[in-house]
Amino acid sequence: MDVTRRNIMVGAMASGSGLAAAQIGPAEAQTAAGSVMFAVAPVVVPIVGSDKMFQVRRIYCIGRNYAAHAREMGSDPTREPPFFFQKPTDAIQNIPVNSVVDHPYPSLTKNYHYEVELVCALKSGGKNIPIDRALDHVFGYALGLDMTRRDLQRALGDEKKPWEIGKSFDHSAPIGPIHPVDMVGHFTKGEISLAVNGTVKQKAGLDHMIWSVAEQISKLSEAFELKAGDIIYSGTPENVGPVVKGDVILCKLERLPDLSIKIV
Ligand code: MN
Repeated sequence: MDVTRRNIMVGAMASGSGLAAAQIGPAEAQTAAGSVMFAVAPVVVPIVGSDKMFQVRRIYCIGRNYAAHAREMGSDPTREPPFFFQKPTDAIQNIPVNSVVDHPYPSLTKNYHYEVELVCALKSGGKNIPIDRALDHVFGYALGLDMTRRDLQRALGDEKKPWEIGKSFDHSAPIGPIHPVDMVGHFTKGEISLAVNGTVKQKAGLDHMIWSVAEQISKLSEAFELKAGDIIYSGTPENVGPVVKGDVILCKLERLPDLSIKIV
């Protein structure tokens, strides 16, 4: 069937379904380049040492990736395979270096928690990526926070409902600038920490991660085709806890600049 005839048929089907035949058909709509009705701005994160930005495609997060944190969340770290969830791409809140950025206390929660995490940013992807090739897909790394409405996460989990609104809400993914691998290398060890109002709350070595970044990429690629622009929050160490309005969070990771937000 040639394209013209196909378009006529599409038009005829559209008429039959109550749409005017003159309207653009699905065949054209799929390929139409040009303006869109409600343009959505791309979500981007600055790249250190570049005038280009990193456009975020998807935000994946790994759960319970440090044994002590898995135990504090009530699970057995020795038996649990890695699990993942997603945040909406526009949950990104960019946090420039050398600044304390206001972070809005979200609605619906009375127990708002911090989780400091290493974030890995991909320049390419694929399906079923072997562990020994996984790091080839990494563009760079950033320091991030997986902010969590803990009360909602727990309550929905107890009810065996998806804990989406506990994790995947506006501004729930603060992130610092991305540092390319050729500048900072890969992260398999080094201390990650978080302080609230000057008191250290979380502190652990990245070598305490149950699943390494390479293993995370490999495992995730079994469930999803990974692509350039995907970022992975690699899990938080133990001693997560609450913040209230006015608190200042300071995150540190060896070889990356500090990240800081103020809860407002
Ligand atoms: Mn997390």
